[in-house]
This record gives sequence, C-alpha cells and structure tokens, in this order.
Amino acid sequence: MPDITPNTFPKSRVIGATMLSLTVLFAGCSSSNSSSASTSTSSKPAQQSQHVFETAHFADGAIVDGTKNAACTLNDGAKATCATFTIAGYPTAYSTGPFCPTTITTPASEAGIWFDGNGTYDLTGEFIKNLATFYNDNEWHMYDSKGNINVTDTREAFLGAARPDVDPKYQNFCVEGRLAWLTNGEAITKTVSIPTKPVLTSSSPSTNPGDWGVTLDGVVIAASAPVSAILGAHTIASFDKCGGHFNNAEGYHMHASTGCGTLDDDHISGETAMFGYAMDGFPIHLPLKASKLKAAKLDECGGHSTPGLGYHYHANSPSKNSVLTCLKGQFVAVAGDRGGPPGGPPR
Ligand SMILES: [Zn+2]
Ligand SMILES: [Zn+2]
Repeated sequence: MPDITPNTFPKSRVIGATMLSLTVLFAGCSSSNSSSASTSTSSKPAQQSQHVFETAHFADGAIVDGTKNAACTLNDGAKATCATFTIAGYPTAYSTGPFCPTTITTPASEAGIWFDGNGTYDLTGEFIKNLATFYNDNEWHMYDSKGNINVTDTREAFLGAARPDVDPKYQNFCVEGRLAWLTNGEAITKTVSIPTKPVLTSSSPSTNPGDWGVTLDGVVIAASAPVSAILGAHTIASFDKCGGHFNNAEGYHMHASTGCGTLDDDHISGETAMFGYAMDGFPIHLPLKASKLKAAKLDECGGHSTPGLGYHYHANSPSKNSVLTCLKGQFVAVAGDRGGPPGGPPR
C-alpha cells in the first residue's frame, strides 16, 4: 500500500489544545459537572459520561452561527442536552484537491487517493491505466489514445457523473467536483445537533448513525462511500489526500482520516490528535499506528477510555472506507445525511 502524504499538517491550534487540556483535566478529576473547575482530588478514572462537548475545539470559521444548547431526545430515548450549530461545509485549514490524475503518467504528487475497503491507493495515472487488471474487469478504460484520462472537468460533467444514476456518457470517468460547481458556487452548510455530554447506548452500538460526525474544520464525516455502486458504474469517485470529495447535493465531505486539517493535540504519549466529534459527542482522534494498537485495547467501535483523555474513538485507517465502525453513545437521529459520494446513491 502506498504511503499517504497529507498535503497539509497545520500545527495544533494553541487555543484549542489548551481548551482540550482543561476539559480533560476537569473530566479526569470531577465526577459532576465537568464544565466547572472542580477542586475534587478524586483519582477516579475518567468515565465515559464525563466528556463535555466544547465548540472551543473548532477552528475559527468552522461554525458559521452561534451554538444553541437545548433539550433533545436521543435515538435510544435518552433525554439530554444537545448543542445545535451549523458547520461551514468546507475546510477552514486547507484547500481541497487535487483529485483525479489528468494523464496516465500523472504522479501521485499531482492527484488524490482512492480507497475501496480493501486498501488505499495513490490515484496516479498508472493506477487509472491499470484499472481493468486491478479490478479484473475489461470494461474499465478511462483514458484515450493519447493517454488523457476522462475527468469530469466541467460542472455539467460533474452533475452528470456525481449522482446515483450516472449518466451513461460519464461511465469510465474519474469523478471530481469543485466548490465553484456547487449551487451558487458556495459551500453547503449543515446544521447538526450533538449531545453536550455523551450518553451510552442502552442497546447495541449503532453501525449506521447517518454521518459519523464533524471535523474541527467544519466538515461532515460521512458514512462509507458506496464503493460497489461507484465501481459498478465504472467510475472512480476520487478523494483528495485529506480523504474528502464533493458531490452536488452535499458539498465537500470526508470519508477518511489522513491527518489533515485542524487538530487538537495534547501530546499524550501513545495518543494521537483529536480531529473531530462523533455524533454521540465523543471525540474522534487520528488512527493509531499499528504498533500502538495492541496496547491501546480498542473496543469494537475503535474507542477506549484512558486516564488522560477519557473515552474517545480512534479513526480507522482510510483503507477501511469508514472513519468509524460504530457509536457507543446515543445520538440525534436525523433523516438523511450527506454521505452519498459522486456516483453513489443518496441516503
Ligand atoms: Zn486513544
Ligand atoms: Zn462521498
């Protein structure tokens, strides 16, 4: 598997990192309201319910309106307080792309990535050239006699290809979108509600909560890209090296965590930086290195509880085509989400 080299590694935001440290400190020492400075000296380990959602972790501009806290009912019936806010729908910390290679000799440095649940691949011209062999299907042929790759390089082509029923003339296209091709050329904002204090589910962890969460950059962390539908239309719904891409209905959204964007890093040994919140209110941290996985003893949802951080998830490797596996906490059930990728069915 080729290395993924995210094109952007902004430094930790000092303010955000400080806020996280405070939150963690409170979460670790207070058994009551962790939003107030407790003088308790209890050494009780952090409990899952002690996390508090903090908009201070988000990058400036990631939230485009104020945050309202109000009573809410979660998917398993729990009554809770939820923070409702609207995210920008476009990363504040980096520019999106590149996505598709333009010719069969385009190097990895000038294109994005592809992942299909089995692996992660640099979306080089060579990769496109070899699709028929790679997927053992002779109907793949995405380039012309001069080696130019079929890329959705106009708004019209993007709209024709980035939809559930791919226009037949855009089969065998590498699909990519641009901010300018969205309606009015604007990012698509989304209003989300997240419990301010996570409530564990009383049933099995949900594997299908809609969106998994939101990044600290104000972008949706979408459900898996429907790879079989994409490949079935002989399209490649390219991702940039940050694991995101556009579709017209949902704008820019993430399908993988590769280390891009705004991070909150407490520099705790053996831990990785936080990059977002899951819809149940628990923080999501970058994937752990393989060498750290055994000691981390992650649960079935990829989470664990540590004295320093309390309960948090670690994202899956991009190759899994799913940032998370399940949610341990309850969430606000919403109709529809923005997980549909170019070429994939809407949900
Ligand atoms: Zn961890
Ligand atoms: Zn998508």
